Amino acid sequence: MERQLETYFREFMNGVRARHAFDPEADRDQWRTAAVAKLRELLGGFPEEKAPLDPITTERVALDGYTRERVEIVTFEGLRMPMYVLTPDGADGPLPAVIACHGHGYGVKDIVGLEPDGSERRGDPGLHKDFAVALVRRGFLVIAPELLGFGERRFAEDAAGGPKANSCFRIAVQLLMAGKTLAGYRVYETLRAVDYVEGRADARADRIGIMGISGGGLVAAFAAAVDERLRAAVVSGYANTFQGSILDRNHCIDNYIPGMSAAFAMSDAIGLIAPRPLLVESGDKDLVFPRGPAVEAYEALRAIYAAFGAEDRLQADFFAGGHEIGGAVAYDWLASMLGDEPGAASV
Ligand SMILES: [Zn+2]
Repeated sequence: MERQLETYFREFMNGVRARHAFDPEADRDQWRTAAVAKLRELLGGFPEEKAPLDPITTERVALDGYTRERVEIVTFEGLRMPMYVLTPDGADGPLPAVIACHGHGYGVKDIVGLEPDGSERRGDPGLHKDFAVALVRRGFLVIAPELLGFGERRFAEDAAGGPKANSCFRIAVQLLMAGKTLAGYRVYETLRAVDYVEGRADARADRIGIMGISGGGLVAAFAAAVDERLRAAVVSGYANTFQGSILDRNHCIDNYIPGMSAAFAMSDAIGLIAPRPLLVESGDKDLVFPRGPAVEAYEALRAIYAAFGAEDRLQADFFAGGHEIGGAVAYDWLASMLGDEPGAASV
């Protein structure tokens, strides 16, 4: 039974008006322009000047069918980010590229076929299903950044807590006190990975997509929302309503962005990707970002895509499974959307 306190806050949140909500009666392009600026502001803003990327390759391993490089770039002045770059063997010219964003777990190694200690995968790949490897096997150049707060990018005290411990809390609270957000830092760093891939001779700068799950789904969604260089996005295990997911149970602090609900429903923010191609994935047993509100968010996204005349560029894969990568539709869909006639082929 709901107690008075729960009733108060449910009604309180229901009373918060999203001032940049999509309005089918309003001018769609004006909405989008103002809303993108607002989302950037809520994320904490981005540096006015980009620091030089200064990329260094620290490792190169030839594997069955592809090569895995470890590359470090500068994202913010003074902050380096490691990434794995996977390139398929036998490429004939520059390739479409996909930025792959992991969720909570032991960091980027979780999606590129590595165990936490850096050795090659031996056991079950878990919810991430080594999706960066699945993408390189589909012929994409894959760039998988290590998101801030995970893996090698943790404070020593947190790293002592085991491979899956993270520094989300320690980093997020410092950024929040400074008027910044961990989500914003991750989004900006991911856009620096886009800067990097644009400069690679083996990548097609006009065919860059993004795919992320859970916390990485947030990053993929908001990075694509604020940067049109990302031509297609797969958002897995994240697209939902705020009320039905992060406000319904205790989620990691990296999900909470000051003022967000007063500007957007989650579908409004993700809807800024329109009219570029978007696929959302949701498992029917996902208890973290549940199916019911995921369908609700998808319906709201459909209204936005319809207003942009781009219904055929929005897809959903509502699959049987949990909080995990689906992939059955996503890889073919990305190949179609980042091909030579993006959006021309239907799934
Ligand atoms: Zn977190």
